[in-house]
Amino acid sequence: RTIYINGEYVAEEEARVSVFDRGFLFGDGIYEVTAVIDGKLIDNDLHLARLERSLKEISIPMPLPVDEIVKVQQELRDRNGLTEGVIYLQVTRGEADRDFGYGEDMKPNFIAFTQNKNLVNANSVKNGVAVDIVPDNRWARRDIKTVMLLGQVLAKKAVKANGFHEAWLVEDGFVTEGASSTAFILTGDNVIVTRPNSHAVLPGCTRRAVMKIIEEENLTLEERLFTVEEAAAAQEAFLTSASSLVTPVIRIGDRTIGDGKPGPITRRLQGIYLDLARA
Ligand code: PLP
Repeated sequence: RTIYINGEYVAEEEARVSVFDRGFLFGDGIYEVTAVIDGKLIDNDLHLARLERSLKEISIPMPLPVDEIVKVQQELRDRNGLTEGVIYLQVTRGEADRDFGYGEDMKPNFIAFTQNKNLVNANSVKNGVAVDIVPDNRWARRDIKTVMLLGQVLAKKAVKANGFHEAWLVEDGFVTEGASSTAFILTGDNVIVTRPNSHAVLPGCTRRAVMKIIEEENLTLEERLFTVEEAAAAQEAFLTSASSLVTPVIRIGDRTIGDGKPGPITRRLQGIYLDLARA
């Protein structure tokens, strides 16, 4: 694979960052993931807008203007022959001798790479997944997409050990989101429910795209908190993220959702999302 690092395209064996990079020492950095389907970058404007916002929130300058970042993404896609998978971007505050404080002269490290992945035909997308409930142990600014991901790493490890695909995180009895996805449920009254954006969750780009579809399809959406019990009793459930698109949830913990198969509304939203992505 070819890797992008600070203005250069190099073989992955040659891509190196200092041990003093603050992303490595403090988790002091931001990342983004854009899906690629049929060579097309999906919802990329939303991802780059969020990159800009996340960086601003922690006072790291944009490493390049947005249109230059798009060129990096396209160049990497082309060099690596990526037709389906993801493009990962990471910007850290840069390198300096270890100290919590940092100066005003930091030069960000900007790296990007591609990963080949089956997205559309993934087993999870086609057949649905089981998710399990774990406490949300993350910090209080989850709206910032930082590389400080230990909460997510441990949550996913815990549920995967028991055969679950994703962790749904819970705080004060309410579902916040998936460890790397946005959580949606469909209640008995055919209302689609997802948590409103706040500091408690990452504002999902796929969430936003799916909300637009929900509106266009004249389906009802409520942005509000929902409990684990309400989720477990839901008619349908699904999760969204750049790499999992719209993925049906067919079990939450030991509770089966609906009849244990991907629900019809979920399928409809999934189909429309994919059609738009490919169009
Ligand atoms: N929530 C968290 C914690 C995530 O890590 C992600 C994506 O990785 C999402 C939600 C979904 O965001 P998006 O749809 O922008 O990929």
